[in-house]
Amino acid sequence: MSPTDPVAWLRSVVETGLRTADAALNETTLRLAVTGLSRAGKTVFIVSMLANLLAMGRRVDTLPALARTLGGGERLRSVTISPSGSSAVPHFELAPKLEALAGHDPAWPDRTSDLSRTALTLSLARSGPLGHLVGQRRVTLEILDYPGEWLLDLPMLGQDYAAWSAETLASLRSPARAGDAAAFLGWLGGVRASDPGDEAVARRGFELSRAALIALRDKGLRWLQPGRALNPGPRGEAPVLFFFPLPDAPDRPAADTLAALLAGRHRAYRDDMQANAFKGRLDRFDRQIVLVDVLGALHAGQAAFEDTARAIGAIARALRRDGLLARMLGSAQPSHLAFAATKADHVPEAARSALAALLSDLVGEAGRGEGRSVHALAALRATEDTTVRREGREIAAVSGIPVGQTVRRSFDPGEVPFQRPEAAFWAMPHFRFEGFRPPLIDPLARRGVPHLGLDAVLASVLGDALA
Ligand code: GDP
Repeated sequence: MSPTDPVAWLRSVVETGLRTADAALNETTLRLAVTGLSRAGKTVFIVSMLANLLAMGRRVDTLPALARTLGGGERLRSVTISPSGSSAVPHFELAPKLEALAGHDPAWPDRTSDLSRTALTLSLARSGPLGHLVGQRRVTLEILDYPGEWLLDLPMLGQDYAAWSAETLASLRSPARAGDAAAFLGWLGGVRASDPGDEAVARRGFELSRAALIALRDKGLRWLQPGRALNPGPRGEAPVLFFFPLPDAPDRPAADTLAALLAGRHRAYRDDMQANAFKGRLDRFDRQIVLVDVLGALHAGQAAFEDTARAIGAIARALRRDGLLARMLGSAQPSHLAFAATKADHVPEAARSALAALLSDLVGEAGRGEGRSVHALAALRATEDTTVRREGREIAAVSGIPVGQTVRRSFDPGEVPFQRPEAAFWAMPHFRFEGFRPPLIDPLARRGVPHLGLDAVLASVLGDALA
């Protein structure tokens, strides 16, 4: 633009000034991190959140509790997916996941990446009588999906290699784990801390210990370290991961020994997690949702449940205001932290409050107080409530189409305890869990997708920032 055309030049200056003022006044970014251990339901949660917010932007009344927080869903004028930009983190792709769900034979979407991000742009009418004068608000809602397993590594960050080795080996030798860890523990019998620091041995030990972690995870156990061995993230399997616990690891290993090589790796891993997984990433996120598959853990039996309880307890402690993450990230704190038990459509309505109470018991202090909440939800509801007869009595139950079948059937899942169950709970036939086929939806999810309680979670985590 040339100042020789003063009118056009002046117009451009004014327009730029107005745009800048409009952006300063009306544009905000809200960052929400969604986490949970593998299979907790993160992918399905994000699909449902995106689909239902996009539908809400088309005036579909799909998130009523959130609409009430906004003072009416009509305040949300439009919702669009923001361009993916040039972020180094993989983009969460909604369309292929909706396609899988809406296919001829509906299937739960695949998880494609350990770490992904996406963003929505929400245009909101301003509240108040003079709202129209200042224009619409544009809120960029950035969503980061990251593995809860990484949070399990936080307690590791304060331990040296000798202490971590002793604790990890004691755990692998416990009755619930020793069988799946047998190949690794057997191989370890032929390895000495004083052996030469051989890269091939480090690699072999890592692979065997990871195979044990994978077998334990598949059995439902959740207290598994290092978490990045199971969920390496977009940087893949890096050499900092190639370590394993050694029996009798010395506090000060002699130079060039295997113990020195592994202790150096362990230190590099802790530094790398601290520098790259948490700092500069999680400290930007002012809201967090932690998803927990409490029902899956109840179904997997006592050992798996107690292991999950230990893992959730550690994650919750790490996320407390005075926890390990806060100490590492400094003042950065999520203004709202919610814990949610997922897949609540597996149980009838009456059991859902028990489910939330049970999660609250597992989470403890971290779920209480200002800006903290605990919920039970089904991001994608695959069942209806019904009743069945048990021993001559009508019992609340759910009905759905079991995975791999085509006919709907009723299902009584059994009791959900209100708090961490006593030993007697495990002695009798306890909780049953049936995998259900996802509900029928249209491939574009124009009317959103059915859920239970997603609106209440979003209202409590995002409501104040959108109101
Ligand atoms: P992620 O590993 O945390 O991303 O877990 P996913 O979101 O992939 O969920 C794992 C599995 O749990 C899915 O494939 C479904 O079988 C099941 N699931 C997740 N959310 C729901 C839900 O809201 N209802 C039901 N019935 N099943 C769910």
